[in-house]
Amino acid sequence: MHIQFLGGVETVTGSQHLVEAGGRRVLRDCGLFQGKRDEARAINTQLRCPSATLDAVVLSHAHIDHCGNLPSLARAGYAGPIHATHATVELAGVMLRDAARIQEQDAAYLNQKTNRQGLPAVTPLYTAADAEAALKLFQGHRYGDTLEAAPGIRVLFQDAGHILGSAVNVFTLAENGRQARVGFAVDLGRKDLPIIRDPEFMSDLDLLVLESTYGDRLHDDVASAEEELGTAINRTLARGGKVLIPSFALERAQEILYHLANLFRSGRVRKVPVYLDSPMAVELTHIFGRHRDCFDAETQALLGQLGGILQPGWVQLVSTVEDSKKITARDEPGIVIAPNGMCEHGRILHHLKHGIGNPANTVLIVGFQAGNTLGRRLVEGAPRVKIFGDEFMCRAEVLTLHAFSAHADRNDLLAYVRKVRPRRIALVHGEPDIRAALAQTLRAEQTAPVLEPKTGEVVEL
Ligand SMILES: [Zn+2]
Repeated sequence: MHIQFLGGVETVTGSQHLVEAGGRRVLRDCGLFQGKRDEARAINTQLRCPSATLDAVVLSHAHIDHCGNLPSLARAGYAGPIHATHATVELAGVMLRDAARIQEQDAAYLNQKTNRQGLPAVTPLYTAADAEAALKLFQGHRYGDTLEAAPGIRVLFQDAGHILGSAVNVFTLAENGRQARVGFAVDLGRKDLPIIRDPEFMSDLDLLVLESTYGDRLHDDVASAEEELGTAINRTLARGGKVLIPSFALERAQEILYHLANLFRSGRVRKVPVYLDSPMAVELTHIFGRHRDCFDAETQALLGQLGGILQPGWVQLVSTVEDSKKITARDEPGIVIAPNGMCEHGRILHHLKHGIGNPANTVLIVGFQAGNTLGRRLVEGAPRVKIFGDEFMCRAEVLTLHAFSAHADRNDLLAYVRKVRPRRIALVHGEPDIRAALAQTLRAEQTAPVLEPKTGEVVEL
């Protein structure tokens, strides 16, 4: 019985773990590696686990760095089941179709160049047909369900408290009369996140595979997110400006709607038009509405008061480009939530192009901004930015709210380990120095032996 660390080990994307017992093989997650184009393509094209030898796939949640390379697996001939929670099945449908569209567009863009230079054509990493083939393999499960993924490999789904439908999984392995239990907390959420329930604690683990994304730092308190959001909105509205919120379509957009519902309901912010400007975010928001059984008690209570917190009358769900243009042109006070979260593409660019030069407006940063993105330049206070090739003065207020994160921070991770009390810990899903810092903290606490596996490494159970 062993586990092999295939991806998302010393980095935070491309999550992939292979679990083997009694000659059976189950893959946990098949995420897309995201990075520089050539490196990403090389890693994502070369599947580290031959699809023909797999008995099953277990998917933790619908983020692309965990599910985004499933279409490549289907493209390579994998036709076994992909197990996930019911909410993840639906969310992954939207995410993978969008990912396939991006892959096809990316290849078409590259082929404009290769055609001119007489080079061989680039094929997309995968196509819409591959995404559909993968989606046909999905099987939905409830939290608390245990399934037999393969003979000798049973898998339990528990709430990860990270995004809607996210799961931590306990793999119970049996081989030659021996048993081993491996738990995966990758990704692991935080206590008190809006909408969803808190992470559940796994138990009796021989090995805990734990993420370390924020293993060296502390987030601002979740509770302060709403107050800070309200203060920023009120300051902007007092100036007669608009609040522009670049946001990821999945989870962050719905979290913002949740906070706005609370702020409006309690009268802390006066009601102004709110626009969710993204067909994908609108679709994902509808899926949230269909999985209310995943909501926490506070959200359940709010549902009763508001009759649908995520689709109340005050949110205008904007699907068409024409409607989006109308909002961009309108200069009245309001709140616009639009992807992409790092301002790299998507409708937020049109809003920024129109609004970044107006000192009355606020650009509210509520998510991680990678290097070399427009979002990062805004956070760093660039006086001018380029949008669609034109230069614009940044006169709007740019404010970063640090309380928004769906990942456990150092203290959350420590608290999780103290409660679960695993017999060994393997840290993954973190940049090497951050992972090393968390390993040091855990060793100082003498919680359990801590492993820092390399990509491809095998650990016996
Ligand atoms: Zn995630």
